[in-house]
Amino acid sequence: MTVSIYAPLAGIVRAIEQVPDAVFAQKIVGDGLAIEPLSDRVVAPFGGKVIAVAPTGHSITLQSDGGVEILIHVGIDTVALGGRGFTPLVSPGEVVATGDALIALDLDHIAGSAPSLVTPILVTTPGAVIRIKADAGPISAGDLFFEVELPADEERQAKGDAQSTAHILATLPAGHGIHARPAARISALARGFDGEVQITCHDRKADAKSVTALLTLGAVAGDQLDIRVIGTDPRAFAVQLAAIVGEGEADDSSAASPLPDEAIAAIPLQAGQLRAVRAAAGLAIGPVFHVAEADVAIAVETGEPGAERQRLAAARARLTQQLTARASDPGTSDAAAAIAHAHIALLDDIALNDKVAELVAGGASAPFAWRQVSRQEEEALRTTGVARLAERAIDLRDIERQLLAELTGTASDAVPGVPKGAIVVADDLPPSFLLDPAHAGIGGIVLSAGGATSHLAILAAASAIPMLVAAGDATAALPQGADIILDADRRLIETAPGAARIAEVRTDLAKRSADAANALALAAQDCVTADGRRIEIFANLASANDARHSVAMGAEGCGLLRTEFIFAEFDTPPSEEWQAGVYADIAAALDGRPLIIRTLDAGGDKPLRCLPFAAEENPALGMRGIRFSMERRDILETQLRAMVRGVPSGQLRIMLPMVVEPGELRDVRALLDDIRRDLGVAAPIDLGAMIETPAAAMIADLIAAEADFLSIGSNDLAQYALAMDRGNPGLSARVDALHPAVLRLIAAAAEGAQKHRRWFGICGGIASDPDAAALLIGLGCQELSSVAGPIPQIKERVRTLDFAACRDLARRACALDSADAVRTLLEEEKR
Ligand code: PEP
Ligand code: MG
Repeated sequence: MTVSIYAPLAGIVRAIEQVPDAVFAQKIVGDGLAIEPLSDRVVAPFGGKVIAVAPTGHSITLQSDGGVEILIHVGIDTVALGGRGFTPLVSPGEVVATGDALIALDLDHIAGSAPSLVTPILVTTPGAVIRIKADAGPISAGDLFFEVELPADEERQAKGDAQSTAHILATLPAGHGIHARPAARISALARGFDGEVQITCHDRKADAKSVTALLTLGAVAGDQLDIRVIGTDPRAFAVQLAAIVGEGEADDSSAASPLPDEAIAAIPLQAGQLRAVRAAAGLAIGPVFHVAEADVAIAVETGEPGAERQRLAAARARLTQQLTARASDPGTSDAAAAIAHAHIALLDDIALNDKVAELVAGGASAPFAWRQVSRQEEEALRTTGVARLAERAIDLRDIERQLLAELTGTASDAVPGVPKGAIVVADDLPPSFLLDPAHAGIGGIVLSAGGATSHLAILAAASAIPMLVAAGDATAALPQGADIILDADRRLIETAPGAARIAEVRTDLAKRSADAANALALAAQDCVTADGRRIEIFANLASANDARHSVAMGAEGCGLLRTEFIFAEFDTPPSEEWQAGVYADIAAALDGRPLIIRTLDAGGDKPLRCLPFAAEENPALGMRGIRFSMERRDILETQLRAMVRGVPSGQLRIMLPMVVEPGELRDVRALLDDIRRDLGVAAPIDLGAMIETPAAAMIADLIAAEADFLSIGSNDLAQYALAMDRGNPGLSARVDALHPAVLRLIAAAAEGAQKHRRWFGICGGIASDPDAAALLIGLGCQELSSVAGPIPQIKERVRTLDFAACRDLARRACALDSADAVRTLLEEEKR
C-alpha cells in the first residue's frame, strides 16, 4: 500500500542527512526529508488523525488513514523555547484533511531563539519504505513531498519461550521531558531488546520501541515512568533503560556553535587545516603533545572464586571511597562531582556486577572478569548507534582502568604530566584525564575519535579548555612539540601556522580575555538606570548549583527559591535537618546576598510524589500553595524551622505563594515568630507575599499592610487573570503576562505596595525577558528575578533606561488592547 505525503510547509527541501542534529541526520527517529521553512503555518501532509502535539507546540505526530505515522519537528532544539513562537491549532484525536492548518509559527521569534529552523518530516512507522522523494530546492506547501510504502501485515511469531516480566520505576530528571531526542535514545535501546518494553506515564501507555508512542506520553521533568519489560532476562535490560531515563539530557550548551552548521560547512578547507567537531568552545595555540593511555596489564587470568570475590569487593570499596571523596571535596567542580557520581553508579551497576560474579564463580580472576564484561558492555553501547550512548563507553574504560589499577596494585596514572599550554592529541581520553592534577593548565584537546557530549567534553567546557573531537586519523601525524592552532568555534585545526598567523591568533586571544573580563566585571556590578534609579537583578533558583551559576552571571540575590524542586526527589517529605542543610548551602553559594525562599507551592501544576493529593476536579483552583501549607501545618512548620536554622536572619526573606488575603500572612507570621522564639533568633525575618492571583493584586494595599515585601508571580497571575490554563498546550502562546489586563493588575499591586512603602519585585517568567525590563520597571518593579542566562543582558539594558520614559511606556502599554499590541510596542521601542 502506498501513501502520498504532501509538503507541510513552503520552503527549501533538504536531505535528512543535512539536518544539524545527529538524532535526525542519522535517521534514528525515522527516514524522511527536511524543509527550511518559509511559510508560517504547518499544514497536514495527508488526511488522517492527530496522534500527539508536543506540550510546547514545536512538534506534531499524525497518522494517515492507511496507518502511516509522520512526525513533523519544527526547528532544532525548539523544545527549549517552551512554546514561545508556536501556536498549535489542533489537538490530539482531531481528524484533519490534507492542507488543514496544524501549527501557526512565529518564524522571526523561532529563528532568533533556536539553533536552526530546519524542520525534519519523518516517517516513524516501523517497516515503512520511502519510495519517491522531492528534489532538494524550493517547494510549496501541498506539493508532493514523498511516497511511503507499507509492508504487508506479517504474522507475529508466537513466542513459546519462557518469558518473565521486570518492573521498575524511574523519575525523569530536570530537562525538557521526553521529546524527540530522548525518545530516540530510549527507543534505540528498546529496539535492541528481544521482547516487549512498555512505559506508562499519566495513565498513558507506550511501546518504548516507537519514538512517536513515547512522545504521546507527554512526560515532563519530575514525572514518574513505570517501565515494564517482558522477555528473557528482562531485569538487566529494565535497569539499563531506567538508567538512561534517569540520566537526563546532557547540557549541549557548551557545544552549541556560534556559527550555524551550514555556515561552517561552507567554509572551504585550506591546505594545513583539519575539520573536526566542536566539543568545547574556544581558541588555543600551543605545542602538540600526543597521549596514548595503555591498558593495565593482567598477569593472572584465573583464580579461586572466594578469594577473587573478596579481592574485587575490597577494590570496588576503595575506588568508591576515592570517588565519593572527590565528589564531596569543596574544591571539586559541579561537573566533576556529577561525573564522579556517575562513575560510582557504573561501578555499582547491577547487570555488570552480576555478569562479573558469574565469570568469577566460573574460575576467572577478578581483573580478567571485570575487563571481559566491561569491554562487552562498551561494545554494546557503541553499537546502539546513538552517539550519546557510545560516548559513555569511555567511562566504562575509565572505571576499568581505575579498578584494575586497584586490583593489581599498578599505578593508573600511566600518562605523564603534560606541559602547560600544550594541546593534547589522542584517539580518545577518559574524563579522569582532566581530573588529574598533572594535566592542569593544558591549552586544548584534539581527539581523532571521541564524542562532543562526552564527560570529558563536559569537564573541558566547565574548565574553559577548547576541545575538538572526531578530527580523524590525520592527527596521528601531527609532529610532537610543533605549534598548532585549535579553533573550536570554526571547528578547525591549523596544523602548520606561520609566524604571522601565530601572532594574529595571540592578539585575538589577548583581546578575547580582556573582553570576557570586562563583561564579567560589568555583570558583577550593581544595576542602576541611566538616570540613577537602583534596580536589583536577582535570580530564580532551585539549587546551590543554580546559585553559584547565577552569581557568576551577575545575580545580586535570589528572588525566588522554588522549594518544590527540593522536595521533588523524595518519597516522603524531607526532614528539617536535611532541608536546613540545603538552604544553608544555597545561602553560602549566594555569599551573603539576599535569599527569598518560597514556602512549598505544592499542588496545581506542581504535584509532588511525597505528598499525594486527593483527586481534584480543578487542581489549579484547588488545594495548592499557601492553602495547602495551612492545612499541612506540620510540613509548613518543618520548612520554616529549616529556613530559620539554615539561613542567617539578615540574609533570609520568606515568601508565601498563592496568597489571596492578608489573614494568611498574619497566620504564618505568628507561626514564624513562635519558631524564632523557640530557636532563639531575635532578629525579625521579612515575610512577603507573592501576588499571583487577581484577588491579591486588587487588595495589594491590604496585603502590603501585613507583608514586608511583594513579588509578582506573573505566570500564575496571567493564568488566573486570563482564565487560561498555563499547562494547556493549546493556550500556551496566549497565557501572556504582557496582556494589558495583567499589566494593569501589576500596576495596581505596585500602587498597593507603594502605599506602605514596601519593596516590590517580580519573579514570574516575564522578568527573564530583557525586552520587557523597561515596561516592568515603568510599572513599579524595583527588582527583576530572572533565570541566570539573560542576567548580563538585562543588566546591560537596564543601565540604558530612563525612569520617566519607562513610566510613559508602561502607561501606553496599559492602554493597548492585546498582548500582541504590547509586544509590537516593545519591539518599536527597541529600535
Ligand atoms: C509565577 O506564578 O509567576 C511564579 C513565579 O511561580 P511558579 O511559576 O512557580 O508558579
Ligand atoms: Mg506561581
